[in-house]
Amino acid sequence: MADAKGKSALTVSERLAPLAHFPLMYGPTPFHEMTGLRQAIESLGHSSPRLFIKRDDCTGLAGGGNKTRKLEYLIGDALAQDCDTIVTAGALQSNHARQTAAAAAKAGLRCRLLLFDTVAYDGPLYRQSGNRLLDDILGAEVQVEPADADGAAVFDKVIADLTAEGAKPYIVPIGGSNAIGSLGYARAAEEISQQARAADVEVDWLVHASSSLGTQAGLLVGAGLSQGKTPKVLGINVYRSNAETMAEDLLTLAHQVASLLDGQPPRAEDVRLDNRFLGAGYGVPTDAMVDAVELVARTEGVLLDPVYSGKAAAGLIARICAGEFSADETIVFVHTGGMPGLFAYQDEFSRRT
Ligand SMILES: *Cc1c(COP(=O)(O)O)cnc(C)c1O
Repeated sequence: MADAKGKSALTVSERLAPLAHFPLMYGPTPFHEMTGLRQAIESLGHSSPRLFIKRDDCTGLAGGGNKTRKLEYLIGDALAQDCDTIVTAGALQSNHARQTAAAAAKAGLRCRLLLFDTVAYDGPLYRQSGNRLLDDILGAEVQVEPADADGAAVFDKVIADLTAEGAKPYIVPIGGSNAIGSLGYARAAEEISQQARAADVEVDWLVHASSSLGTQAGLLVGAGLSQGKTPKVLGINVYRSNAETMAEDLLTLAHQVASLLDGQPPRAEDVRLDNRFLGAGYGVPTDAMVDAVELVARTEGVLLDPVYSGKAAAGLIARICAGEFSADETIVFVHTGGMPGLFAYQDEFSRRT
């Protein structure tokens, strides 16, 4: 049976039920209104839509964040394949690497992290604190590579060495963003739709930080398959300086996710990315990010992060102030986590206070 939107009667959870899954989350994560932030924006003379926040910084796994949801399906797949060692890669302060280390620990698997020193930022604590410290505490085997390393060659050698040792490696892609990982965000979209319904609100927009695109692909597909009004999904690009093929890559990934769920793929016009808030590059702080992190902390008591959610919130606030949303709309900001990164960027904040 299909309704007017062409949705069949199966829910996202029902579609996910047959797929391999390893529980890592203590969910559903909180969903609450941000009246303090809205008032602060209005006190500056702008009308603001109603603002809610989906607290995926509170997934409960070693500091939380959006990778937890993806890892439930990726670790599930690794266990189904009898793998014993998780291998993944990221930047030196990768939230993804930290959550992967925690997920592997919880699943009783070895974890090998390849961290590339690629970010053009050189704060005094960047190489030691934040996520990098937590990777060690979580027991991951960390290998740091210089910015100019041949990533594919390093990866191949690690896999070959592990295999020669008799290990059975499972590769988790950067950001956990293949179709399997993205399933976690289809599930998140359903969760948001249920929480919004319980709070008696209709959501017009989901806004979040986008980099490896799994969050956005999953949300797009999941929103389309969830009950009620389908929100528009807006990703604030915090990653790619050259974003030319980003929309196309997102659509391709969303098609793969839709196919795993046997659901409707999104259309090209459903893909919304905003490239105006990246600044000089991935992981490079912007003044608007620092302002947004401080404003949300001081009006909501919520800590964002310097690399992702801080820039996404800066984009959200700038768009509201520019009148790019209407005041009768409702926005859900998806807090994707990353708070440990604040400690790696300590100077950005302390220099201004
Ligand atoms: C990885 C990450 C994102 C981006 O999610 P993608 O699915 O890679 O686009 C956003 N916020 C935080 C804190 C992250 O760690």
